[in-house]
Amino acid sequence: MSAVEDEDDMVLSPSPSALKFDLVARCSTTKARAATLRLPHGPVQLPMFMPVATQASLKGLTPKQLEETSCRLCLNNTYHLGLKPGQKTLDAIGGAHKLQSWPHNILTDSGGFQMVSLLKLSQVTEEGVRFLSPHDGTPMLLTPEHSISLQNSIGSDIIMQLDDVIATTSPDHERIKEAMLRSVRWLDRCIAAHEKPESQNLFCIIQGGLDLELRKECCRAMVARDTPGIAIGGLSGGEAKAEFCKVVDICTSLLPEKKPRYVMGVGYPEDILVSVALGADMFDCVWPTRTARFGNAVTSTGTSNLRHAAYAYDFRPVEEGCQCACCRPQSEGGLGVTRAYIHHVAAKETAGAHLLSIHNVHFLLELMRRAREAIVEDRYPAFLVDYFDKLYGGEKDKYPQWAVDALKGVGIDLMSNL
Ligand SMILES: [Zn+2]
Repeated sequence: MSAVEDEDDMVLSPSPSALKFDLVARCSTTKARAATLRLPHGPVQLPMFMPVATQASLKGLTPKQLEETSCRLCLNNTYHLGLKPGQKTLDAIGGAHKLQSWPHNILTDSGGFQMVSLLKLSQVTEEGVRFLSPHDGTPMLLTPEHSISLQNSIGSDIIMQLDDVIATTSPDHERIKEAMLRSVRWLDRCIAAHEKPESQNLFCIIQGGLDLELRKECCRAMVARDTPGIAIGGLSGGEAKAEFCKVVDICTSLLPEKKPRYVMGVGYPEDILVSVALGADMFDCVWPTRTARFGNAVTSTGTSNLRHAAYAYDFRPVEEGCQCACCRPQSEGGLGVTRAYIHHVAAKETAGAHLLSIHNVHFLLELMRRAREAIVEDRYPAFLVDYFDKLYGGEKDKYPQWAVDALKGVGIDLMSNL
């Protein structure tokens, strides 16, 4: 899998692990890191954004098109794959890589979050998550053991523990504490049930709501269990961004340096870039593809809705200079699609959403590539200053206060002129 490495730089986890985390560079100002994560289906570069292919397909994109965005790690949903095609079919075909002809890495969630968010009638007990089948209403139970068994059948390179997820905005502190402690107990059950630790990497999920003491306690308990990677969960549920940043910051300060850190459900470029400065490495979100279906293009100057009449006669690419298959001129092997064309098809044809999905996913992956390059060259603070300057057209009074404050906490003053 990987080339010969310097033994001193290698992280050999005493517990089974199917990954290797090579720390490449650390920002001398912020907590940002650049790393290479070597997974069973090839290496990926951190920090990274992972697009979400819910039903083993990224809405609107073929696996080949996804590959062309430079994506080498995408998400699949265990809940959806477990329902259809189902575990038997997954076992018969040999897992999700074969099912979707995807030769690169896959990360699966535990299925728990999907259930709690999709099914109003779900109920969490110590045993697992109880719910009524969306097909025929029969009572079903997702246990930590069943979640891991499904993910073992899917064969994903990174699998997630079943956790007890509570909205960060919940006022019920006792319930948040119970969920955090239960998530630790469920991790132990997941570790015991995991049959393929030599080929699939189990990540724990830090819970504890917005209570920093609970988060610290959870970090200590989860880190002691020594999983190959660590996720920070339960965020992006409508909490204030300042609170979100505090949680990410406190968790990363307690996590081992030589393991990947994944902040779940984060997809806005600003949130990702600030989280990277706070020491996080991996992110996922349906937002770039979902927003494409509403005609929104994500660009370095913000998100614009190409359905707006102003784009009817705009014959520039979605973003000038963008090297995605959609924006790249035909003379350079791309499709040479214009804003006017997307405007024309956005409302009535799925092609508009497909093209914008290609652009949006490419935009985020390229943003991460540039962020990584800046970290490696130790100019991440200047990169962030430039990014915010461009995004807000030089109007500093429009910068979100939470971002200014969070970055100040790691040594960057966005408001000064570097
Ligand atoms: Zn593009």
